[in-house]
Amino acid sequence: PPAETPQIVVDAHGLPYLNAKLPVKQRVKDLLSRMSVAEKAGQATQAERGAITAPADIAGYGLGSLLSGGGSTPTPNTAAGWAKMIDGFQLRAQATRFQIPLIYGVDAVHGHNNLVGATVMPHNIGIGASRDPQLARRTGEVTAAEVRATGVPWDFAPCLCVTRDERWGRSYEAFGEDPALVKSMETVIQGLQGARDGRDLKDGDKVLATAKHFVGDGGTTYGSSTTGSYTIDQGVTEVTRRELEAVHLSPYQDAVDRGVGTVMPSYSSLDLAGDGRGPVKMHARADLINGVLKGRMGFDGFVISDWNAIDQLPGDYATQVRTAVNAGVDMMMVPYSYKEFSAALVAEVKAGRVSERRLDDAVARILTQKFRLGLFERPYADTRGASRIGSAAHRAVARQAAAASQVLLKNDGGVLPLKKSQKVYVAGSNADDIGNQTGGWTITWQGASGAITPGTTILEGIRAAGGTVTYSKDASAPLTGQDVGVVVVGETPYAEGVGDVGNGHDLELSAADRAAVDTVCAAVKCVVLVVSGRPQLVGDRLGAIDALVASWLPGTEGAGVADVLYGRRAFTGQLPVTWPRSEAQLPVNVGDRAYDPQYPYGWGLTTLTKVPQGGTATLKALGIAARAAERAGADTVGRALVTKARLIVQQKTGGRITARVAAPFADAEHLLLTGRYGAAVEKLTEAYRAG
Ligand code: BGC
Repeated sequence: PPAETPQIVVDAHGLPYLNAKLPVKQRVKDLLSRMSVAEKAGQATQAERGAITAPADIAGYGLGSLLSGGGSTPTPNTAAGWAKMIDGFQLRAQATRFQIPLIYGVDAVHGHNNLVGATVMPHNIGIGASRDPQLARRTGEVTAAEVRATGVPWDFAPCLCVTRDERWGRSYEAFGEDPALVKSMETVIQGLQGARDGRDLKDGDKVLATAKHFVGDGGTTYGSSTTGSYTIDQGVTEVTRRELEAVHLSPYQDAVDRGVGTVMPSYSSLDLAGDGRGPVKMHARADLINGVLKGRMGFDGFVISDWNAIDQLPGDYATQVRTAVNAGVDMMMVPYSYKEFSAALVAEVKAGRVSERRLDDAVARILTQKFRLGLFERPYADTRGASRIGSAAHRAVARQAAAASQVLLKNDGGVLPLKKSQKVYVAGSNADDIGNQTGGWTITWQGASGAITPGTTILEGIRAAGGTVTYSKDASAPLTGQDVGVVVVGETPYAEGVGDVGNGHDLELSAADRAAVDTVCAAVKCVVLVVSGRPQLVGDRLGAIDALVASWLPGTEGAGVADVLYGRRAFTGQLPVTWPRSEAQLPVNVGDRAYDPQYPYGWGLTTLTKVPQGGTATLKALGIAARAAERAGADTVGRALVTKARLIVQQKTGGRITARVAAPFADAEHLLLTGRYGAAVEKLTEAYRAG
C-alpha cells in the first residue's frame, strides 16, 4: 500500500456529511474537506472485482468503485449471489475511516444481461428499429429494476454511438446511424435513472446511467491501420468539426440535459480536420472532455474511463495518468492496476502535475452521485425487488420490444402474416438458439450459442402459436406438404472487435445458412429471418425469398418474433441503419450522395391492415396536427404522425412502398424527430405524391 495508507479507524460518527437532511452539495464539501490525498485518489479508482485478491485492499486503498468487467469469472448466477458478493465488498468499504460506500458498476446493456434468468431485451439496434421512445424508456425501467435488485446501483449504458459503418463489431450496441434517432431513444436514460434531477436514484429500482463512448466511437474508419489489420474497433474517427458536432456530439447534449450521471470516453482516437494534431486518443482530449462536455454542455456528473484505456495513451505510466486526469477523466477503470494507479495519482498531485483542485473536482463529482444514490444511508443491497427479476411482467415488456423491433423488408404475395392453419417448416442456425438471439454481452462478455439463460426461442414462439411445425436446423428433413418455410439465419454472438469472425466479418451469411435458405426457398414459399447484430448481405438470393425480416438480436423473448409472424401484432419496425447491397458499398448512410442501398434507412413494411383511429385524415390535417404538437412540445407525437402518414400512403398504393416513397419518409422522420415540423410536412407530401 502507498505510504499514506488511510487508517482503518472509523471516524465518521455524527459528522455533517452523514446527515441526509443536508443538501448534497454541503455534504460533499464537508466530506471532501476531511479527506487526505490518498483517500481522494482511492475514490477516483475503480478495480475489477476479480482482481481483488486481498479483500483488505478495498479499505487499504480506499477504493471508490468496483466493477464486474467482461473478463471476470465466475459470475454469481443468482440475484442473492450477486447481492451477497457486493455486500461483502461494501462491508470492507464500511471499514474505512469515513465509511464511504463503493459504487458498483456493470454493463447491463440490454437488460441485466449478467444474470442467468434475468429479462434480456433486444440489443439497441432493435430498440432503434422500433422508433418508440416510450418503449425504450420502459426497457430502461425493467433493466434498472432488475440490476438494482441485485445490489448494483450503476449501469455502463446506454451506448450513444452513431454507427456509420456496420463492419464495426459494436454496431448492435447503437440505436442507429442517424443522430436524431439516437437522441429520440435517450428516453432510456429516464427509464434507468428516473427524474432528470436525480431524485429517484435513491429508489430501489433505479440506477445511474452512463452515456458512452464519448465521442465518435461509431465513426471510426474501417481498415485505417498501417499494419493492415482491422482497427475499426478502437480506431480513428476522421471528421470535420461540423460532422463531429452534427453526427457524434449532438446526442450527448441531450443526455446531459436528461441528467445522465456518468459519461465514458471512447477508446477511439479523434482526428479532427484542421486542428493539426492528427489522431488523439479520446481519453487525452481535454478540449472535448473538459471543454465541450463539462464546459459547454454543462455535464455535472462524473467521467469514468474505459477499461484499461489509459494504458493506450502515449508516455510512461505517470504521464498516462496525468494526461487522462487533466483531460477531465474523474474515475479510472484500472481493473488490475488499481494499486499502481492510485499511487501514481497521489504522486502526480504531490508533484503538482495534477492540481489538488482538479482532484477535488473529480472526487466531488463522484461523491455527489454516491449521495444521490443514497448509498451513504443504504450501502447494502436492497433485494426486495428481486422477485421481479425475469418476471412475467418484465418479460412482457421484452416481448413487446422484440415484436416492435422486427423490420419487414420484403413481403411478396403477402406471405406474412402466417396463418395458424398453415403447416410450417422451420430451419436455420438461429431458429432455436437463445444464445444466438441474445448475442454478445449476455451472461458472459462475448455471449455464447446455446441455452445460456431461460427464455423462448423463435422456434418455441412459432410452436406456441399453434400451427403444425416441422423443425430441421440444416433443412435436411424432407420438405413435403408444408405450406411455408421459415428460415432463421444470421450471426453467432460476439462483443467488440469486428464481430462474428467465424462467419467472416464481411457480413455474409454462413455457408450452412445459405444452403438452408436455398433448399427451403426452392421448395416452398419462404420467410427468411435474419438474427444478427447488423445487416447481412443476401445478394442474389433475395429473388428467391418471399418475405425477408431483419430480426436483429431480439433477446430472450422469441415469442415476440412469433407475435408479428402470426399477426398478433403488426410489423411496424423501420431500419435503424441502411441495409447495403454489397460489401463494396460500405460505409453507406442516409444522406450519402450516391445512395443506392438494398433497403434505405427508415425502410420497413407494415402488416397493419387498417389505418388506426383518425386514419382518414389528410396530410393537410396531419400538418396541422404536427404544428399543434410542436406548440405543445410533444416529442413522440411526430413519430405517431409519421406512422399514420405511412399507413395512408400504404393504403393508397396497396402496400407497395417504393424507394421513391421510403426516402422522403426517412427524411420526414428525421425532421419530425428534430422538431422541424413544417419541413417534415413537405416531405410527407412528397412521399404521398410519389406513392
Ligand atoms: C467496453 C465498455 C465497457 C467496459 C467495462 C470495455 O471493453 O468498451 O463499453 O463498459 O469494457 O466492461
